[in-house]
Order: sequence, then C-alpha cells, then structure tokens
Amino acid sequence: MISKEDCFKFLRNVIDATLSTVDENGNPQSRIIDIMHIEDEKIFFLTARGKHVYHEILNHPQVSYLCLNNNKTVRISGEAHKLDDQKYWIDLMFDENRFLNNVYPGDARYVLEPFCIENGEMEYFDLTQKPIYRKSFTLGKGKITPKGYEITDECIECGTCFELCPQKAINEGSPYEIMKEHCLHCGRCFENCPTTAIEKL
Ligand code: SF4
Ligand code: SF4
Repeated sequence: MISKEDCFKFLRNVIDATLSTVDENGNPQSRIIDIMHIEDEKIFFLTARGKHVYHEILNHPQVSYLCLNNNKTVRISGEAHKLDDQKYWIDLMFDENRFLNNVYPGDARYVLEPFCIENGEMEYFDLTQKPIYRKSFTLGKGKITPKGYEITDECIECGTCFELCPQKAINEGSPYEIMKEHCLHCGRCFENCPTTAIEKL
C-alpha cells in the first residue's frame, strides 16, 4: 500500500519531471523542471524570470507535474505560487541540489524565482502491477477530483463488465462493484453494459 510519504520520496528520486502550464493563447506547454524540495507536503521548484514558463505560471497558476520512473508515475495538479523570500528559498534549493551551481554559478542563481504548490491533488499510478494500482492523495487544502466509473443500482448482474474488464477490476455482487484502485479508466465496461448501469464520474 503506497503512502503519501512514499510518493514524496518517489518525487525526490525521479531525475526528470515534466511541468505543464497553459500559455497566453490557451495552448498547453510542457517542459522538464525538476522538483527541488519538498517540505510539509508542499512541492517546490525554480524557474528563471526570463523564461516563458515563469510568465505562464504568473498568468495561469494552475499547473500539472508528471514524474515517471519504471512505469510508475506520480502526477500532481494544483496551484503554483511564487514565494516571497526569494534568497532564502533559492539558497536552500541550491544547497539541496548541488548540480544547480553548474547551471547558475555564483550570483546568477538570483535570476531564478522559487515557486511552491501547496494545495492540490496527487495520484500514484503503477502499471507494473497486475492488476494495475492507483491511489490519490490531497495536498494541503486540495480536493481529490472523482475519476473513473461507478456501477449503480441499475445493474442486473449480467456479468458482461466482469468478463470484459482487462484488469479484472470488477467484483461480482449485487450490484457489481469496480475496485477503483485497480481501474484503468478505459471505459470498456461503460461501453458494453446492457442497462447503462455504469456511470462516468
Ligand atoms: S455489465 Fe452492467 S448490468 Fe451487467 S454486471 Fe456489469 S454493471 Fe451490471
Ligand atoms: S473502466 Fe476499464 S479497467 Fe476500469 S473497471 Fe471498467 S473495464 Fe475495468
């Protein structure tokens, strides 16, 4: 059973993490920006004031992170805000991530600005297990967005979804039940239920 703490360790061990934003034309933009620090369930990163991503975050603070390692991912979505005490956070993150000194030597580091994702949601997704495994967590005051599918009382217990599910993530019963932690969200059960008893969340 994966914990929130396990996810934070995963995030710090991942080499490359993709940060996605929305630009001024409403188009999605992604680039590699490593997570530099985690403290009190807050996610910290840096970017330079001259970069497009810096202005994109200021204009549209809702961002998404995707971290991948050996077919396991941690995805974060939440609001990023710029931190006030720039020098403190920059120095802390440079101490923790020594390689940054090669990229921004000396005082060049202060062209960077520190950001933090404090409130949002985080999902762990493991494709290496059979059945697959996923688990969601809140960050700060964030909320978990319901996703996937649910079987309602309209179920006539025909067994079609049970047979078709590629991950065998459905339990027989009255009604049948989807094990959400093992569901791919593929929708195959939803498409084939004869009584439309399966709802998309
Ligand atoms: S396919 Fe629909 S009716 Fe049949 S068992 Fe599944 S949920 Fe119930
Ligand atoms: S959405 Fe796909 S993986 Fe999830 S229960 Fe339905 S068929 Fe199975």
